[in-house]
Amino acid sequence: MKLTIDGSRCEGHGRCWTIAPDLFDCDDTGTGVVRSSQVSADALTSAQRAVATCPEGAIELKDS
Ligand code: SF4
Repeated sequence: MKLTIDGSRCEGHGRCWTIAPDLFDCDDTGTGVVRSSQVSADALTSAQRAVATCPEGAIELKDS
């Protein structure tokens, strides 16, 4: 699975990196970024939780 963040929608709430710090971080402007776009099977549940929790709908998880 491939994980992406639409930086134009991200408002920097930080929920993604709070929920899944192994998958997300923030850049110098406080915008969410993915640490690695490829999501392992072990990390899939965390990635799905982040998608569901992002208040801006900025995180996308799709088949790679
Ligand atoms: S939860 Fe969504 S809006 Fe908040 S920092 Fe992460 S991607 Fe951005």
